[in-house]
Amino acid sequence: VLILGIETSCDETAAAVVKNGKEMLSNVVASQIESHKRFGGVVPEIASRHHVEVMTLVVEEALEKANVTMEEIDAIAVTEGPGLVGALLVGVNAAKALAFAFQKPLVNVHHIAGHIYANAFVKPLQFPLLSLVVSGGHTELVYMPEDGVFEVIGETRDDAAGEAYDKVARILSLPYPGGPHIDRMAANGEDTYKLPRVWLEEDSYDFSFSGLKSAVINLSHNMAQRGEEIQPENLAASFQASVVEVLVGKTKRAVEELGVKQLVLAGGVAANRGLRQAIEDTFVDNEQLDVVIPPLSLCTDNAAMIAAAGTVLYQQGKRGKMDMNAHPNLDLEQF
Ligand code: ATP
Ligand code: MG
Ligand code: FE
Repeated sequence: VLILGIETSCDETAAAVVKNGKEMLSNVVASQIESHKRFGGVVPEIASRHHVEVMTLVVEEALEKANVTMEEIDAIAVTEGPGLVGALLVGVNAAKALAFAFQKPLVNVHHIAGHIYANAFVKPLQFPLLSLVVSGGHTELVYMPEDGVFEVIGETRDDAAGEAYDKVARILSLPYPGGPHIDRMAANGEDTYKLPRVWLEEDSYDFSFSGLKSAVINLSHNMAQRGEEIQPENLAASFQASVVEVLVGKTKRAVEELGVKQLVLAGGVAANRGLRQAIEDTFVDNEQLDVVIPPLSLCTDNAAMIAAAGTVLYQQGKRGKMDMNAHPNLDLEQF
């Protein structure tokens, strides 16, 4: 099967052609980071406008690079949510227009399902599977008993991991998005500042990162008041150590309790070197568990991942309606 994927949930306009859910024939991503940088975050109106401007070009480029025509495409997979409503609508409407014009079925895809299926480009997914999803808007442990079935066993109660990275980066006056900058600085620093590890209740798989963020704010504030200079590399390393320790600790407990065959990392923060290394080190001796970490280019938003998830759903008979809408708060377990 040949699936055209379309993704516009945030600030990347993306289209991709994927064969059989695992072969990337093209993967075009038009990033808007430069337009949002000076505002220190994504501005929804600007995002929508940019999507409208480049959507058609991005789809054309994806088809051209894959060397396929719309006639050869079996279905169009599109991100239905979650995300910015105005941004999502551009992708959904483009998908509907193409589906109507070329008489192709639509497949509506949850953005986080896409992040998880980015791993299908590395190797076949094996079930039961556990995914640690860490992105700009989500931090979740997702259990998948089988293909296309998602159970959220834990999630953040406040900030997402990526959000915490971006906020701490702002405290250190680093440009948006700050995650990659903190990652680089942390590699040159040491865990010298005493920052909290937030475990919540003993049996909970939930996360919380707002306390850690506040601790970083208070620390830098107090040090400034005392006239002490903060060591940015060490602060980055200390912050990252806290995030990674809790993420990996909860993931390890879930792996053991659920007895999964495969662990996959997903979302933008999966690009983090400290997290990738910690996941590898933690499970290297577990011979029963297969660990998959996506290539850097497939961690942040793209349409190949939407096409990969869309392929599985398409093969399971799932179809989007021609009057489908964008759903900014779409539920992973229900979509
Ligand atoms: P969601 O997927 O939850 O809807 P999103 O699509 O905006 O949110 P992604 O594109 O998946 O988020 O990921 C972007 C986030 O990943 C940003 O917060 C960014 O700072 C973070 N990020 C990217 N690379 C790294 C890195 N190397 N280390 C830490 N964080 C990173
Ligand atoms: Mg983005
Ligand atoms: Fe994302």
